[in-house]
Amino acid sequence: MIQAPRSLILITVDCLRADHVGFLGYKRATTPFLDTIARESFVFSKAIAAGAPTYYSLPGILASRYPLALGREVLGIAPDEETLPSVLRDFGFQTAAFSAANPYISARFGYDQGFDCFRDFLESGQIEFPEENIPTSFRARANRAVASTCHQVPGLGQIYDELYFEYCQRIGSGRAASFEALRKFPSADVIVDHAISWLDEHAGGPFFLWLHLMDPHAPYYPKPEALDAMGASSSAQQARYLNSYWARGDIGPERLRRKRDKVIALYDAGIAWADRQIRRLGERLVELNQWDNCALAITADHGEEFLDHGGRFHAPVKLTEELIHVPLVLRIAGNRDRRHITTPFGLIDLAPTLLDVLGLPAPASFRGRSRWLQAASGKEWQKPVITECVHGCSNPFFSEKRIAPRILAVRSQSHKLVLDFASNSEQLFDLECDPQERNALNPAEAIAVRQELLQHAWKHLAESQKSRDFDRRFESQLRDLRIEWAHSAPSPN
Ligand SMILES: [Zn+2]
Repeated sequence: MIQAPRSLILITVDCLRADHVGFLGYKRATTPFLDTIARESFVFSKAIAAGAPTYYSLPGILASRYPLALGREVLGIAPDEETLPSVLRDFGFQTAAFSAANPYISARFGYDQGFDCFRDFLESGQIEFPEENIPTSFRARANRAVASTCHQVPGLGQIYDELYFEYCQRIGSGRAASFEALRKFPSADVIVDHAISWLDEHAGGPFFLWLHLMDPHAPYYPKPEALDAMGASSSAQQARYLNSYWARGDIGPERLRRKRDKVIALYDAGIAWADRQIRRLGERLVELNQWDNCALAITADHGEEFLDHGGRFHAPVKLTEELIHVPLVLRIAGNRDRRHITTPFGLIDLAPTLLDVLGLPAPASFRGRSRWLQAASGKEWQKPVITECVHGCSNPFFSEKRIAPRILAVRSQSHKLVLDFASNSEQLFDLECDPQERNALNPAEAIAVRQELLQHAWKHLAESQKSRDFDRRFESQLRDLRIEWAHSAPSPN
């Protein structure tokens, strides 16, 4: 008999794809601590994000709501929307979030709602609006003129690009001081330090703690100790070169592939560092006598691509497995064996499942359903999992980017149907025969499966329309407007 735990810890690791953790079969030792936990936990080997990337995934995790359910233009958590932290706070939990400076996880997008303590490490208090930075100096203009001339001669443009890239890396940018100086996000040790300080004050009562770690996120500048431990030591200079090479827009997959393994080593070291810090958090919980009082859920918002389908990073232009299949491990004291759940589990179901684990009801607004009873009793369930995003919306700070057509994936145990409304394409994959999604089935094949998954897709779209909460949508639009007004207000003299 498993007793309901008193508290809950949720850890989301940004960009952590399922096939890069040891407990799901990865060969490199990225997650020794999580592997140990997995031996006495519920391991969901087919956990699927409700959307990708971060801003399309987190509403599913925290609010059990599909990312586009309020309308494509609405981003983040809507004002007063019920979420895992808000529900738990209403039940008397102390709530805290420490998020490693992902600009989409901020108060601007409603992520502070429900938290007594919310730290997003975006210290300036302002989110940077990425913009095209076109240098205008004489040298830059002259360089553009030379580049343009070279690109008019067949073969010369490529040679020029190569020389210019090497020049920029080896001479133009100077020496890279250190990994610390190059890193864009606070590393997991910083986040865990803050979490431990908070726990030292609040571990006595019921609490909900959420950590969002960015260590595997690009640019890939892990802790050098983690690289050394993996036997993949690198200098900061080499790491900067690899990151710049990997971000190149002027070369194709063939040439990018030459550096792929080295880039993956940097990414894996980020995972290893997150794992090591989660261990430290666990050790502190043991010291505080709280380790067995907490349910611990560890998952990811989405995965990361390393040319699996020709791309890099995690832009929402496809919903392939490396982008939406994430690890999910759930440790609950009292359970001493590994429980392997192979039914596809949508992260839309995570928040109601976690509430159920704590013995608490989920609010009516949650679209997912608890799978706790089925998981605990070893029963399977049959419901295809939905994932959606807006095609090409890689920078949702620009609201016009949010309005593009949707991509929708429906995944069953064996098949996956992907509807891309941008290209009006429909692809069905047999994931048992073709787990890498290399060859979509011919339209004449698996007709019954195709029809069944199509029906689920239409049902999802119809429910999204029917259940749309126009008040919340309006409130979210107002929030966006207020921020835009605040940005455009004349600054005081
Ligand atoms: Zn993310």
